[in-house]
Parts: sequence; C-alpha cells; structure tokens
Amino acid sequence: MKSLSVVTVTLLFLAPALTFGQITYQTAPNAEQKKTLLLRDFHPRTMMHASAHTVERAKFPVIDVHQHVDDARGIGDRIAVAKLIEIMDRTNVQKMVILTGMWGEKLQKVLDELVKPHPDRFIVFTQIDWSKIDDPNFSQLMVAQLDDAVARGARGLKVLKDLGLEVRDKSGKLVAVDDPRLDPIWAECGRLGIPVAIHVTDPEAFFQPLDGNNERYEELMENPSWSFYGPKFPTKESILAARDRMFAKHPNTKFIALHVANWPENLDYVSALLDRLPNVSVEFAAREAELGRQPRRAREFFIKYQDRIMFGTDFTPEQEMYRNHFRWLETADEYFDYWGYPGQGRWKIYGMELPDAVLEKVYHLNAEKLLAEFRGLPSKTR
Ligand SMILES: [Zn+2]
Repeated sequence: MKSLSVVTVTLLFLAPALTFGQITYQTAPNAEQKKTLLLRDFHPRTMMHASAHTVERAKFPVIDVHQHVDDARGIGDRIAVAKLIEIMDRTNVQKMVILTGMWGEKLQKVLDELVKPHPDRFIVFTQIDWSKIDDPNFSQLMVAQLDDAVARGARGLKVLKDLGLEVRDKSGKLVAVDDPRLDPIWAECGRLGIPVAIHVTDPEAFFQPLDGNNERYEELMENPSWSFYGPKFPTKESILAARDRMFAKHPNTKFIALHVANWPENLDYVSALLDRLPNVSVEFAAREAELGRQPRRAREFFIKYQDRIMFGTDFTPEQEMYRNHFRWLETADEYFDYWGYPGQGRWKIYGMELPDAVLEKVYHLNAEKLLAEFRGLPSKTR
C-alpha cells in the first residue's frame, strides 16, 4: 500500500458510493493479520485443466543408474527380487545399478542375491571404507579393497556425500574431496575401467539459512541434518571446486557427477563443467523437481549434452515413480507433480518432450557405453 496513486486513493475514498451489494474492489485493510493459516495446513488443489498423459512403459529400455534398493548399506527399501523384476518388466526398466554395495562379504551378499540370479538386470557398485582413513596405508588398503570388489563382481565405485561434509581424519579436519590420499583410489578406478559415481554437496538451499526465505524450508524441517548452513561447514562452492579439481587431475578416470553434478539450479555451471572435462558425465536422480521447473533451459541442456546425461532416480522403485519420470522426459504435459511432491519444494514441473534420439541415449545408450569400458584386473599378477 506504499505506492497508492492519487487515482487509487480517490477510488478508495469513493468506494462506498461505487459498491453494489457485497462485492468490493479494495483489499481488506486487515488482510495481513488474517493470513494465519499454517504452512502445514496449506494444500491448494490446482484448478488447471491441463492435459495429462500416462506413459506406462518407457519408449526405450531404461538403465536406472542410481538405485539403493536391496543394497548392502541399508539406504534403500527391501523389495523381493521377483517383485522388483516384475516392476522393471512392466515399466521397461532393463537394468538397475545398486550403488551402495559396500565391500567384502556384504558386497558378496548383494551380488549373490541380485546379480547371480539376474546378471542382465542388476549391476552393483562398491564403496570406500572411511573407518580406515587414519591407517597409514589407507590408500593401498582401499586400492586392494577395490580390486577385491571388482574381482567379486562390482562394476563401479560410489562415493556418498559424507566426503566433503562429514568424513574427518584424526586431525579433526574434514577430508577434502581432492585430498591426495584419495588419488590412488581414483587412479585405480581408471585402470580398472570402472566409473566413479560421486555425490558431492547438496541443493543450494541446504547451504542457506533455514528461514522463511528458504525454498526447501519444509524439507529441511523434516530433515534437519541435511542443513549445511553455518560455520561448521565449508561453502558449497568451495567443496564443488575441490571436486572439480580432482576430476581434472584424473583425466583417465570416468566420473558420474551424481544429481546433475549437484547444481541443477545452476545449469550454466554444470554446462561449463561438462565443456571443460570430457571424463565427466551426469545423471539426474532426485533432481526431476529442479530440472522440471525450468523446462526450456533443461531441454536445451539435454539436447546439447545428450551424450553425457544418464537416467537415475534414487527413489524406491515403483511403477508410478518410473511413469512419472517418463512423463517428464517424453511428454509436453504442463504443471504436474514431480515424484515426491511437495517434498523438495512447492513448485510443479513441465514435460520436456525430448526427441527420440536423445531419449534413447539418456535412457540406456550412454550408461551402456560407460559400463562397457570395464577392463577389470590384469589376468593374474595381483
Ligand atoms: Zn543416492
């Protein structure tokens, strides 16, 4: 009301004379005080009559490169293998990559349960054992653990977001993503021909104050440990800079920068990263919401980097979850819920209607190409 024009003031003054019945044309003077509905009680139902297409099966076979279902670490839900295969067959998901396979006997168990009976449907990645970070032979121990995991059947290395945000050595300092103790591990992955799927930092809003300006306020209230705001944490930019230095230092290793290199809010940044480093590709797990709210920019990104983007979800595999992603990629539907709405924020998404040639690469060709670089251990001299 600060910028009331003379005309408006005049109208307000004359208003009673211009009013017929109940309808008035000025805002209620006490409106701000009356807006007391709690955010948790606000669930507006859209009145949009927008077209809605169901995509039962993906147009091309899919490799979901970001799964945790039935994993070794207990991040994902437990679903019986037969049931999983049924969901996959119904939705045209050809393969799943279970990222959190751990190592040793725990890894073996996942391989035995999933890969042994269904070698064409599941792939399992191994992980780094951070509990050994203070061992003077940490690097060699991890290289040996990696070789053992690959000999057992692991086909990639997964790094969780604890690197850069939580993993500390005995000095009490965070282990940087480009810490030289890790170099032999990245180099070994390059020799083995296995990709490193690495999650570094998190959404930009997780590094912002948790207040009424935070677009992920409700999500952070539900998951307070996901807030990395404050002096205890390095900035998002500095952690990503360390990651990108590490990528550049290992040109012979292939990296999957998970969650759209964890900056889908800033596709200019991700584009510059992909332009600069040919050994890096991305997948979009749990970032449908981020990409779906910028459909024109995202479509341009998918077309330009069609050889560098893979399909990943990070969600419990359900038919409707996959169908929601297919709708986003394949149709031009407008203003619909991303999977998990409103968990990440109160906005809707728009379909990208990607061309077939791009869809096929994103759905499976890019992942197949990357996984086909597997060389394994040199036959015998370990
Ligand atoms: Zn994940």
